[in-house]
Amino acid sequence: MKTEFSLAQLADPDIAEADKILRACVHCGFCTATCPTYVLLGDELDSPRGRIYLIKEMLEKDRPPTREVVKHIDRCLSCLACMTTCPSGVNYMHLVDQARVRIERDYRRPLTERLLRAALALVLPRPALFRASMMLARLGRPLVALLPEAEQATASPTLLRRIRAMLMLSPGRLPAPGPAGGSVFPAIGEKRGRVALLQGCAQQVLAPRINQAAVNLLTRHGVEVVLVRDEQCCGALTHHLGRDGDALARARANVTAWLAEAERGGLDAILVTTSGCGTVIKDYGFMLREDPGFAAGAAQVSALAKDITEYLSGVDLQPPQHHGDIVVAYHAACSLQHGQKITQAPKELLSKNGFVVKDVPESHLCCGSAGTYNILQPDIANKLRDRKVANIAMVKPDMIAAGNIGCMVQIAGGTSVPVVHTIELLDWATGGPRPGLN
Ligand code: SF4
Ligand code: SF4
Repeated sequence: MKTEFSLAQLADPDIAEADKILRACVHCGFCTATCPTYVLLGDELDSPRGRIYLIKEMLEKDRPPTREVVKHIDRCLSCLACMTTCPSGVNYMHLVDQARVRIERDYRRPLTERLLRAALALVLPRPALFRASMMLARLGRPLVALLPEAEQATASPTLLRRIRAMLMLSPGRLPAPGPAGGSVFPAIGEKRGRVALLQGCAQQVLAPRINQAAVNLLTRHGVEVVLVRDEQCCGALTHHLGRDGDALARARANVTAWLAEAERGGLDAILVTTSGCGTVIKDYGFMLREDPGFAAGAAQVSALAKDITEYLSGVDLQPPQHHGDIVVAYHAACSLQHGQKITQAPKELLSKNGFVVKDVPESHLCCGSAGTYNILQPDIANKLRDRKVANIAMVKPDMIAAGNIGCMVQIAGGTSVPVVHTIELLDWATGGPRPGLN
């Protein structure tokens, strides 16, 4: 794609990066076929190619985002299916990230939307606040019946629709909190490695059992696990809201905390059980590339970051115990399959450990969770969830496995089949408790 940035514009490293990305796009439109919003809405401007044009116009002309641009960028799930499909290697992720930052900086949203986004950015990265908000949401759940349900997908759902979506996503009960930062879980038997395990924000409140399963399995296989004391939210949630100041501050704090831990006790890897977070941590090196104080450290952290299944592929797991012929529908989280290109490891681990693994039809399509998307765009998100659940039902599973808490909550909202994390099944297969009794 031909671009027309001025030399002065190209002096800005972000614009230079956008120019490189835009020039790689050859307008072929292959990406439209796998874009969930294009598949659902059929509007070229809700396809990757359409959004790329909108972003190009906004950046080239250096003008504030229009309402139209914001509508179509807001509808993007950042699922990155387009990056998997694109034959020209267009890095849509870095382009749309830049567009979101520009929108956040230069576009004035309606007051209710500004308040809602500010509340999400404040609450979600802070587990104590998130826990308190989930308790409040539980009390408000009976109000769901009084709030309006949309007839069709709308670009600007009302505040009431979004509140309804939040209440619908809140759990019926909250488990007790897991172990605190600073905890160390020694290896059982001969020590073979030492890793940090990302504590996560929403996940540690909604499902501490996931990291508990990871700790159980790792220590049982000789790996010491540390929950790093000063670790913060990885920044993914605010990054996707275009609040880069917040996201980068969190990235810097984590780089400092993890490298200090690596210096103190050594770290073979920083393990992540929430693939949405893993995708962003693996991108720290890019996000902080222009920061002379952090660029090298961030690159080191990105190289250390691994999805739990990526790491376990290199560990000799104990022989599996027999669980009968349990059929597991494997839901490939977008952040894992498109963001990190990890497609086979989770399925191979599950198969090797005695489960009958089934691929889900249309597995490339997002379930609609996408960070805060199911709150901000509940109508599109619900349609995608219903489609995902119908596809999952076709393989008649006993359980559904996924590697991302956002997907797990989203899918569980539409099915009675137990939704568990891949690591819970692997822990069970190698001696841990049976999951899915939630
Ligand atoms: S990230 Fe997903 S929703 Fe956004 S343009 Fe790409 S495929 Fe479409
Ligand atoms: S598939 Fe790639 S090159 Fe083709 S239009 Fe989409 S982003 Fe551009």
